[in-house]
Amino acid sequence: MRSNYYLPQLILYTILLSCISFLPAHAYKRTLSPQGDALYWEHYPIPFYIHRAVPSHLAAEPTYLAIRQSFQAWAEPECTCLRFEDKGLTDDTQLGYNQKEPSKNQNIVIFVMQSWKHASNAVAVTSTTFNEKNGEIVGYDIEINAVNFLFSLDAMPIHGSPTMDIQNTITHEIGHVIGLDHSNVGDSTMFASGPVGETKKRTLHQDDLDGLCDIYPKNRGCPLKQQLTQPEACGCSTSNRTSLSLLSMSILLSIGLGLIYRLRCKTRPTT
Ligand SMILES: [Zn+2]
Repeated sequence: MRSNYYLPQLILYTILLSCISFLPAHAYKRTLSPQGDALYWEHYPIPFYIHRAVPSHLAAEPTYLAIRQSFQAWAEPECTCLRFEDKGLTDDTQLGYNQKEPSKNQNIVIFVMQSWKHASNAVAVTSTTFNEKNGEIVGYDIEINAVNFLFSLDAMPIHGSPTMDIQNTITHEIGHVIGLDHSNVGDSTMFASGPVGETKKRTLHQDDLDGLCDIYPKNRGCPLKQQLTQPEACGCSTSNRTSLSLLSMSILLSIGLGLIYRLRCKTRPTT
C-alpha cells in the first residue's frame, strides 16, 4: 500500500518537474524589434556624451559623475565584456541618429529643461536606433525630463519637494540602451516602476546581471582590441539616400511613464 500512498506524490512531482522545465531560465526581458529580433550591440565600447547643461540647482561635476557611475554599473561586472567610452561633454542638442554621417553621430545624455516633447509624466526617454534587419543597435540618446521632475544626486527632498535620484534613473535607462526591456522582478534595476527617492536601481540585481551577461558574456571570449571599432552602422556609412532608404532604420523609444516614477516602453518606427 505504500506504493499507492506515494503514487499521487510521484505524479505531482513529475508534473511539477515538467512545468518547471518549460519555465524560462531567467526573468529579464530583451527589447524586440518589430520583426521580433532581440536588440543588441555588436561593437563596443559604446560611446556616450554628456550634455554640459544641468539644472541650476545641481552642481555640474557631481552630476556628470553620477551619470558616469550609471554607465559603470553595467560595465564593471566580471561576467561581461560590455564597455562604454566616455566621450566627454557636448553642447550639441541635435538628438536622433545621424544617418547622413554615422561616424559623426553622438549618443547624448541630456537634461531637457524646456519644451519636453514626450509625455509629461515620462521621467526619462531612451531613444535607441537599430537596424531592422538584425536588431543591431547603432545609436541612442537619453533625455531626462527636468521640466516636470525635480532631480537630485542623493534622492533627498529639496525644500520639501521629493526628488528623483539621477543615478537611479540613468542606470535604468542604460539598461534600455543595451537592449533590455522591463523585468517583472521587483527589486531589479529594470523593473518598470519605483517610488520617488529610490536609489536601489543604482545597483544591478542578479536578474539584471543575468541579462547583461547572457547578451554580452565574457566567458565566450571578449572581442579582440582591434575589433573594438565603430560599427559600419549596418551599411549606414554608405551615405547615399538610396541605400539609406533600403536600410530601414527604426527608432525605438523606451519611454518612462508614471504618476511619480513609472517607466514603460513604446516602439515608434521612423525612417
Ligand atoms: Zn524603462
